[in-house]
Amino acid sequence: MPQGLIVKALSGYYYVEASGDVIQCRARGIFKKKGISPLVGDYVEFTVTENGEGMVDKIMPRSSELIRPPISNVEQAILVFSVQEPELNLQLLDKFLVHIEHAGLDVVICFTKEDLLDEPSDEGDGDLPASSSHGKEITKIEDAEVLYKQIGYTVIRTSSVTGMGKDELMTHLNGKISVFAGQSGVGKSSMLNALLPGLSLETNQISMRLGRGKHTTRHVELITLPEGGFVADTPGFSQLDFLELGVEALGDCFREFHDYAAECKFRGCTHIHEPGCRVLAAKASGDIAPSRYDHYVLFFTEMKEKKRRY
Ligand code: GDP
Ligand code: ZN
Repeated sequence: MPQGLIVKALSGYYYVEASGDVIQCRARGIFKKKGISPLVGDYVEFTVTENGEGMVDKIMPRSSELIRPPISNVEQAILVFSVQEPELNLQLLDKFLVHIEHAGLDVVICFTKEDLLDEPSDEGDGDLPASSSHGKEITKIEDAEVLYKQIGYTVIRTSSVTGMGKDELMTHLNGKISVFAGQSGVGKSSMLNALLPGLSLETNQISMRLGRGKHTTRHVELITLPEGGFVADTPGFSQLDFLELGVEALGDCFREFHDYAAECKFRGCTHIHEPGCRVLAAKASGDIAPSRYDHYVLFFTEMKEKKRRY
């Protein structure tokens, strides 16, 4: 029986990619009876019927299931943050990381709009020496790159205008199902368009020119990459509340805490105030970055607050 991957779901049809072809399929009634619906990202078995359409017979077990966008078997998130417009926000970056780690996905941190750092963006004539504020912005990005690489993340610095980092990013997309994540306006669609000529996803610039909002409902679709692998055309992790995450799991989402946390004196140590806490000690000695620890405490407090309210 042929096997394939559902790359699109629309009006009761499932579009299954199998050896380079896309077959329009219906799903067997049995799924509905069982209360299961096939998802984009599902690996399926199907049969081809007389009219050339297909019938999805079997859904393979899912390795993951994202809710927004609804896609199964996503393996990797490309976490996109612009170095400017909007400015890099490490607190938000750590929040995204918590959610991605919690979902158990691989992650690549992608800095975009690097071209905006090439020249001081301040008004006035370009002959002036680089202003110190410009220098500070560059240092901030370099420090962030070092910090996250030290933790063990892949960090790629890109620009969809100059093409910087494009090839490197593509090598990380090859062979996997990936979803882009990051706040609105950081350049996710522009990067996808730059990676895949001919795609032309709508970017903010275009939607503003056409006088309509960007968030018109669209159907999620997996885009096939030239050298294998798929990327979702809709960004993930748009909702970053901590409702689904238990406070006990928060520490696990900070990778560099793991080795220290294993040595804390008390089991179930929250790393906030306990004596004999190795995470606190590592923070004091500078082995854990202050920004990371501070964000941990901030999210911890936020989660406790939420729990009290609901
Ligand atoms: P998204 O909401 O994350 O998909 O962001 P968009 O791709 O729609 O981009 C938001 C805005 O940033 C648009 O006006 C883009 O033209 C601009 N932009 C995106 N990437 C770059 C880049 O690499 N360099 C510069 N200078 N502008 C960019
Ligand atoms: Zn501890």
